[in-house]
Order: sequence, then C-alpha cells, then structure tokens
Amino acid sequence: MARPARTTIQQPDGRHVYLYGDHTPAPAGYQAPSIQPGAYQRRWNPLRREWVLVAAARQGRTFLPDRSQCPVCGSTPGHSTEIPAARFDAAVFENRFPGMLATGDRPREPGVRIEPSSGVCEVVVYTDEHEGSFGTLAPQRLDLLVEVWTDRYRALASREDVQYVFIFENRGEAVGVTLHHPHGQIYAYPFIPPVPDIELRAGSRGCLQCRLLADELADGRRVLIGERGLVAYVPGYARWPYEVHLVVRAHLGALPDLPAAGRRALGSAMQRVARAYDSLFGVPMPYMMALHQRPTDGRDHPQAHLHAEFYPIMRDQGKLKYLAGSESGAGVFINDTLAEESAARLRQRM
Ligand SMILES: [Zn+2]
Ligand SMILES: [Zn+2]
Ligand SMILES: [Zn+2]
Repeated sequence: MARPARTTIQQPDGRHVYLYGDHTPAPAGYQAPSIQPGAYQRRWNPLRREWVLVAAARQGRTFLPDRSQCPVCGSTPGHSTEIPAARFDAAVFENRFPGMLATGDRPREPGVRIEPSSGVCEVVVYTDEHEGSFGTLAPQRLDLLVEVWTDRYRALASREDVQYVFIFENRGEAVGVTLHHPHGQIYAYPFIPPVPDIELRAGSRGCLQCRLLADELADGRRVLIGERGLVAYVPGYARWPYEVHLVVRAHLGALPDLPAAGRRALGSAMQRVARAYDSLFGVPMPYMMALHQRPTDGRDHPQAHLHAEFYPIMRDQGKLKYLAGSESGAGVFINDTLAEESAARLRQRM
C-alpha cells in the first residue's frame, strides 16, 4: 500500500483529526465536542526516578456508552461524534481526555518537582464499524491501520517535543477500556519511558532482541510464528501468562524502516496473535499491546529493534491476573504458567 490519503481537520478547540483513506463529510449541523480545562502536569518521583503524568480532568470520560452514543462512530444528523465525517476508513484524533497536554501552565508545588505537561495523546479508530475488534478487522482495514501507525510515527517523531512515540492498545473492560468500538492509542511522550529505556540499555553492547530471537528460534519450543520475516514467541521469562513477543526478524528500528510488504506481514501476524487469544478461553481476551520502536529524541539508538509485546491479563477461564502486592510493591511478577506450555496451547489456536 502506498502512503494512505490523509485529510487533516482542526476542531474549534484546536485538536486535530486525521481521516485516513476515504471518508464522506459530516452531516450539516455537525458540532465538534470540545476539550474541558483541567490540571495537566508531570511530576517526578525521585525514589523510582520516573515521571508520573497528572491529568486531573479525565473523570468526565465517556464510560461504556451505548452504541447509539458511541463517540468514535461516524457522525449522524442527530449525533455529532469525535469524527467529523459520516463514514471513514480509519481516523486518528487528539484525545479529548489526554494524559498529556501542552497547556502553557507552569504549575508549582513546594517539595515536588513539576514540569509543564507536554506531549500528544491520540486515539486511533481502526474502522467506522462499531462491532468487532483488532482481531476481526478485514485485511484492507488491517493494512491501512499499519500504514496509519507508520504515518503517525513519522509525523509525531518530527516534533521537537516528542522523544518517544508509543503505539498501544488496551483491549477489554478488564484493562480499563471505556469504549468498545475498535480503537487503540498513541502516546507521544516528551521523554523516553522507563520500559523501552531499560530494554535499550540492555542492548547497549549489541542488539539483545536479535540475540533472543536467534535463541528462541534455535530452541523452538516457545515459537508461535516464524515466517514472512517475523517471529512470535512466548518469552521464556514471560511475566504474564500467554505473553507474546512478536519481533521483526531483520534488525530494523521502527515501522518506516520496514518495506510495505513487511508492514503488512507484521499487521497480519499481530492479528493472528489476537485471534489466538480470543479462541484460547472462548471469550474476548482482555490484553494490552505495546509497540516498541526507536526513540525519536534525535539520537541514533542503533540497538533499537521493532517489536510488539502482548500482555493478555487472563490466566485461565474467568480468572484475571492482577498486579498485586509482589508485582506492584516489589516489582516481582508471579507467573503461574510455564512459558513452554503456554506456547504449546497458543500454537494449537493459530
Ligand atoms: Zn462506535
Ligand atoms: Zn536487533
Ligand atoms: Zn519491548
């Protein structure tokens, strides 16, 4: 797929909407929703040496609306949504309930290191069809979605205030999703977040992803997919039951580095993983998907290696894995499955 057509619309409150592929304009009388004022800042935790994003305006978020009130379906004459179009292939818009927002405020609080909020939070609407999920997207929509991710990575990477473009999906109410329409998100952070940062540091003497990939392929027991330039496996050290890492076999740092065919292959492999999850326990699997790519802080990061990580949070039929005392208070995960057995079970579903 060549670069998809993109139409940019700026809402009256300044937020951008990007319509990808084809669309039909919003009905007459469309009224854009607008962002509410709030306290946006980032605060430094000196003990953990990490940033906490404060977004004290998110409580009014739409919570599991009816289909007729869905805020990301196409707009109809009686219902103006976030999307200024009656129908569309895929859409991205700046979140009205963002975790980060450049407000120009310079908040102060004694004893706390506070920086003004900056960065961008976008919502990626995979399709204008309300029902379904990433796993059920039609092939053309899936291909378009990966091109949308690629375009957003490029666009956000070019911003001075963005050091890391994080594409992710939270799927299922159990992961805090407040909206069923198939969608994901992008957080463009003004710093490199701790998880990718730790991974990049671990690879400072040569790419660790490449080495782990070779080890998994040599062993084979935990490998789920090994074709079309991609390898998916349950890492031997998985934190989550049924955790899957999907790694591009070539040492490439980000989506734009992949040829278009490679991006298509990545999308369909990701979808195979999502489908395997849904068939594992016969219910839609709640999961988090994280795409790790090269930081966009202007430095080289030669060890960056594009991959997706899936964290399904169900450990058995009807049983959720919670981040409890050991995980949250000590940073030690307890996984009550063996990666080798999880891989065997998932392989049967692929
Ligand atoms: Zn919808
Ligand atoms: Zn590598
Ligand atoms: Zn990673």
